[in-house]
Amino acid sequence: MSRSDLAIFGGTPVRSQKFPAYKVIGEEEKQAVMGVLDGGRLSGYLGCWDPGFMGGPQVRALEEEWAAHFGVKHAMCINSATSGLIAAVGACDIGPGDHVIVTPYSMSASATCPLFYGAVPVFADIEPEYFCLDPEAVEKQITSRTKAIVVVDLFGQPYDADRINAIAKKHGLKVIEDAAQSPNALLHGTFAGCLGDVGVFSLNVHKHIHTGEGGVVVTNNDLIADKVRLIRNHAEAVVEGMGFENLVNMVGMNLRMTEIEASIARCQLRKLDRLVEERQHNFDYLAAKLDSLPGLHTAKVRPGAKHAQYVFTMLYNQEFMGVPRDRFIQAVGAELPETKGREGEGAIFSCGYIRPLYMQPLFQKRLAIGRGGFPFTPYGEDITYVEGLCPVTETLWREKLFFHEMFRPPMSHDDLDDVYRAFEKVHENREALRA
Ligand SMILES: *Cc1c(COP(=O)(O)O)cnc(C)c1O
Repeated sequence: MSRSDLAIFGGTPVRSQKFPAYKVIGEEEKQAVMGVLDGGRLSGYLGCWDPGFMGGPQVRALEEEWAAHFGVKHAMCINSATSGLIAAVGACDIGPGDHVIVTPYSMSASATCPLFYGAVPVFADIEPEYFCLDPEAVEKQITSRTKAIVVVDLFGQPYDADRINAIAKKHGLKVIEDAAQSPNALLHGTFAGCLGDVGVFSLNVHKHIHTGEGGVVVTNNDLIADKVRLIRNHAEAVVEGMGFENLVNMVGMNLRMTEIEASIARCQLRKLDRLVEERQHNFDYLAAKLDSLPGLHTAKVRPGAKHAQYVFTMLYNQEFMGVPRDRFIQAVGAELPETKGREGEGAIFSCGYIRPLYMQPLFQKRLAIGRGGFPFTPYGEDITYVEGLCPVTETLWREKLFFHEMFRPPMSHDDLDDVYRAFEKVHENREALRA
């Protein structure tokens, strides 16, 4: 094979036929939505103390079904996981001057949610193989001002609940679990999302199951559940009628999910087991092949855990390969087609996920709420957001981690074989990329 055989240099790609779309919306959802439209009441909520405070029939049915599926006492529909995280922070009575430990490697809301209540995010580094908050790094950041930890079950991997929950208990901290990427992941038989004090799922269009936009908050704690419901729906106008006397953070919002989304989510929940199992099956099939290529390895699953495989995560050994990660991935991408319905995006690869969150302008400029730098001024003077803060995260971001989505159902073994062949071809010819 010569240099020009690689598609990136104009050679014939391994495959040009598009991969099948990950399409989870079907006839059931259409019928459910039509039923709601025919009824004419697209939301059942009332923002006062009334049976309607809890939402309409679809919202309530989804909450019951969600709680039963995940084996948790309370499930609360919400309009997004971002809203759910903010409501969870409020429901844990967090306020100005409190410090909350967060991860730098996640969707931004996992780290910005404390800011809405005037609390300061404090970053801790992550685990090099599992990518969730590192218990030792967390413990180092705890001070008398720390009130909570926002853990993320990143890429479908449950956080280290054994160790982090023990640390939280020892220091009297709440654990807020962002399970947006990990519905049906398990640790020792407990679902991700239900491992902390309060958990949050996302139903946005990118997630395993979706309703366009939406989310669900879960907890076994009655007080947190009441507070989330109140923050979701105009707490200030409800507390009196309800006889709810704890007024901390009882300034409410409107974070309500409509009946339409709830009706779709009920259909989606019924598909969740199958969709996650198909991802796990495809992951295992492709991982067994890819792990035969030295210099690459697929992300490990934490002992005792079942991974929800949100994306296909891999680690790259740049020293062994002799080619920068991004160059290698670019060449693999050139061998593969796009996915149906995502025309124009090419083969979807992500090199390094997101830039560590503390490098975002918000943290670099210390400007969040208002013009005076609140809450960093005056509550975060001793907290730094410098580059180099979380070296494990930064190395993953710069050169080691990448992921792709070319394993989602309904991809077949033949489709997965093509993905493998693309990696294999570039791996064999990587010398050509050194120029
Ligand atoms: C998608 C996502 C969110 C936000 O979800 P929305 O429903 O879009 O607000 C939060 N955290 C993580 C880890 C996510 O992947």
